Amino acid sequence: MKISMYNASKMWYNSTITRNEKMNKKEELLIIFMEECAEAAIEASKIMRFGKGNELLESEVGDLTCMIQLLEESGMIDMANVQACADAKREKLKKWSDLNV
Ligand SMILES: [Mg+2]
Repeated sequence: MKISMYNASKMWYNSTITRNEKMNKKEELLIIFMEECAEAAIEASKIMRFGKGNELLESEVGDLTCMIQLLEESGMIDMANVQACADAKREKLKKWSDLNV
C-alpha cells in the first residue's frame, strides 16, 4: 500500500502529540501547502536530472494549485494581490532572466 507524504506526515504527527495539541486547520493548510511546494520542486528536479516527462510535474502543479485555491478560500491570501505580485515577478524576469516572458 502506497502512503502519500501527507498521510505519512499526518500519521507521524498524530502519533507524537496528544489530542489537544493537534494542529489547527490553518496549520494543516499551511503544512500541506509546504509539502506540495516541495513535491513540485522534486518533480522539476527529476525532469532536469533524469529527463523525465512532464506528467508528474503537471500532477504536482495541480496539487499546488489546489492548495493555493484553498489558501484563498480560507482568506489567507487575496488573488488580486497574488496577481499583482505575479505581474511584478514577470517584469523582474524580463530584466534578470533569458526567459521569453
Ligand atoms: Mg502532491
